[in-house]
Amino acid sequence: MDLHEYQARELFARHGVPVLDAYVVDEPEAAREAARLLGGRAVVKAQVKTGGRGKAGGVRLAADPEEAVAHASRILGMDIKGHTVGKVMLARTADIEEEFYVSYLLDRTNRTYLAMASSEGGMDIEEVAATRPGALARIPVDPAEGVTEDKAREIVTAAGLPAEAVPVLVALWQVFTEEDALLVEVNPLVRTIDGRVLALDGKISLDDSARFRHPAHSAYETPGDGDPLEASAKAKGLNYVKLDGSVGIIGNGAGLVMSTLDVVARQGAEPANFLDIGGGASARVMADGLGLILGDPGVKSVLVNVFGGITACDAVADGIVQALEQVELTKPLVVRLDGNNAELGRTILTGAAHPLVHQLDTMDGAAARAAELARS
Ligand code: GDP
Ligand code: MN
Repeated sequence: MDLHEYQARELFARHGVPVLDAYVVDEPEAAREAARLLGGRAVVKAQVKTGGRGKAGGVRLAADPEEAVAHASRILGMDIKGHTVGKVMLARTADIEEEFYVSYLLDRTNRTYLAMASSEGGMDIEEVAATRPGALARIPVDPAEGVTEDKAREIVTAAGLPAEAVPVLVALWQVFTEEDALLVEVNPLVRTIDGRVLALDGKISLDDSARFRHPAHSAYETPGDGDPLEASAKAKGLNYVKLDGSVGIIGNGAGLVMSTLDVVARQGAEPANFLDIGGGASARVMADGLGLILGDPGVKSVLVNVFGGITACDAVADGIVQALEQVELTKPLVVRLDGNNAELGRTILTGAAHPLVHQLDTMDGAAARAAELARS
């Protein structure tokens, strides 16, 4: 789960990463009181889960509460890279002397954590990395040791950050580990004219697999933030991931679903999603799954690939038949049943004789047919 800046700021504050006072408002008039509480001057910032807000006009300095209202009214409702601004954060302003970049992330390739830091903060870090790779220091962090003061000094030295950043880097590491984050990024980390080091922006991605350890994080879930189909799948207890292709995929078990994605891709088609119905393929689960996939306008055909185990294929076939009574099938459905009671399952589907249902015996054959149907 990605957090909004104001949420990241809250976690920063909790772990001793210095941030400036701030208030979040969702209507322009409320910006007046917020700015007044901040001493009149304030920076008004769009709260959307995308970068480049500054360039898009979503970050503006207000000299007084009146101007804060004007900025808030211009920024609220603004579209930034497809995200509509529903909240703005008003923060105390900083007199910036220098802007830096720092992040901690999981380095999957090298199976370790990575600290990245640069003295060229503020701007687009991808651009810095692409055009002047030497300006972005990359330092592996041993998971068992973490960012100690010594490690923080190493990062500061490598990246050309000020020595005052050392305790901030240590505190940021606490955010990263104690909150179970996959990414913590501060851009810019600034040094003010009076020598303080502050996090002026913050991006945190939390590890959803560690959610059970952090009941408090559920407060950060903002309904309507993610993909609407993913949200509806989650509400129904289905394991669904939206992809960009045209073949909808339903399977039982993550391994089989992943293999199915591969086989569909080998047939030259792109999977539209990943939907694992798990062990139970009841009519309810099949209907929910089908309804979800047919709701994706990108889907041109659907492939159901089930290997019957504890849930036998006849139960799955019954589930499909009943689901077809509950959901109007608008796209071709290719079904491949194998494993426990496969013959019986196939007979049930054949008996139902639905004109849009195609049955194939092999995974490759089914994937080829689904790919072909998606193209035509
Ligand atoms: P982003 O563009 O979405 O990454 O938004 P940021 O929060 O990083 O803000 C963009 C830029 O606005 C920063 O790099 C700063 O230069 C500037 N900025 C943000 N907050 C302040 C502030 O309090 N004072 C001043 N002077 N500039 C700020
Ligand atoms: Mn930024």
